Amino acid sequence: MTSNLSDWDSVIGLEVHVQLATRTKIFSGASTQYGAKPNSQACAVDLGFPGVLPVLNHEVLAMAVRFGLSINAHIAHQSIFARKNYFYPDLPKGYQITQYEHPIVGRGTLPVITEDGRKLEIGVTRAHLEEDAGKSLHDAFNSMTGIDLNRAGVPLLEIVSEPELRSAKDAVAYLKTLHALVCYLQICDGNLQEGSFRCDANVSVRKKGDPKLGTRAEIKNVNSFRFVEKAIDYEIARQIEVLSEGGSVVQETRLYDSAKNETRSMRSKENANDYRYFPDPDLLPVVVSQTWIDEIATTLPELPWQKRERLQKDYGLSEYDANVLTSNKALGDYFEAALERTKASPKITANWVMGELSALLNKHNLSIETSPISALALGELLSHLADNTISGKIAKTVFEKMWETGESASVIIEREGLVQENDSATLEKVIDEIIHANPAQVAEYRSGKERVFGYFVGQVMKQTGGKANPAQVNGLLKKKLA
Ligand code: ADP
Ligand code: MG
Repeated sequence: MTSNLSDWDSVIGLEVHVQLATRTKIFSGASTQYGAKPNSQACAVDLGFPGVLPVLNHEVLAMAVRFGLSINAHIAHQSIFARKNYFYPDLPKGYQITQYEHPIVGRGTLPVITEDGRKLEIGVTRAHLEEDAGKSLHDAFNSMTGIDLNRAGVPLLEIVSEPELRSAKDAVAYLKTLHALVCYLQICDGNLQEGSFRCDANVSVRKKGDPKLGTRAEIKNVNSFRFVEKAIDYEIARQIEVLSEGGSVVQETRLYDSAKNETRSMRSKENANDYRYFPDPDLLPVVVSQTWIDEIATTLPELPWQKRERLQKDYGLSEYDANVLTSNKALGDYFEAALERTKASPKITANWVMGELSALLNKHNLSIETSPISALALGELLSHLADNTISGKIAKTVFEKMWETGESASVIIEREGLVQENDSATLEKVIDEIIHANPAQVAEYRSGKERVFGYFVGQVMKQTGGKANPAQVNGLLKKKLA
């Protein structure tokens, strides 16, 4: 049977585990601080010792409700914690406490803009609270596995999407939007390296036009956007190949190996009845009142998509720019702080934040929060550009010096004599000299070879050390060469 990629549709549903940014664990007072000495932050409750009693941390409820309200989800007035029974070395108590049949957050919608500008409304099936398990450490000991239980009992909000995503790229757009959202809501620190935001991707394929979903495989725990995309793309191609050759996809859990860029079977899929879920007898049903929900609704911050619209409306930014600037809360805040202190236009300011600044941050592997150039300092530099004190080219030089020395734009411009030459008498004199010294090029230009114009501009810039006002140079040259 011959088959190619365009005969198939892919379907993706995501389960995202968001670590909630509480100081203490979901059912105990132990610290959730990342990076402590292994096994120094797991107490008897986290380990499920006989006779202990879990007590729900109320902050996690408020956080889950904040999230639910932000995606217009139904909030359940009553939700229930169950025990999910299974054995694994990082879960010594033999069960995980998780909301199962009655999650706190029901059906909602996440608005997503894809990389190529399409607007999606992705259904969120549910979001439920649960405790994290410990961690197996495979690299620390030679041919042995270590167990660190510090993570046991860290609160998680698991956010489950409908199987509505149709490509790896769209899945990543959804993840980035969700990541931005939980950071805006300040319910998660968003740290991907530390595992604060982890994703399982369910992937299936079906023949184009087939209304029935295909059998899915679930790729576990990928914690970088780039790897999620690669893992899904690999898995789609693998399933198409299996089906094209007459085989069938097995419902199973697979692991993504980033070094080899492939997914590998980990275990066949368990069914819910393998876990023997039952309501945790130590925890009462969780009851939340409408009054309390309404109270939380009044404290919601501006959400990423609201800010995106505001940036377009208030500053005339394009949807693309507004989307980039709101994809990360700190980036948008930086932009607005710079804009508040500058004479430059919103568009110029946005260009510098998304261009020069982001490029240098990326190059040095820094985040906007740790930028060596503050929003205030960038705003000042751009003011010098806006009022023609310096040219765009010089601004880039000054920007790099600011990055290296931490000095302000004014200090650098003054010390190095970089002020733009805007005086037309001075510029005319330079231009006259250049025209006089290059009769051949003048003749060429006048005979219609307009590209010689760039040569004259270059000469003026050379003579003035790059400081001539480019717009003025263009105007004067045109006039004199005509
Ligand atoms: P579990 O993984 O715990 O069995 P579900 O059956 O509810 O839970 O599914 C979890 C995720 O799998 C959801 O995000 C859902 O959208 C997605 N999903 C379900 N069926 C498919 C399918 N055929 N193809 C792709 N994703 C799917
Ligand atoms: Mg699952």
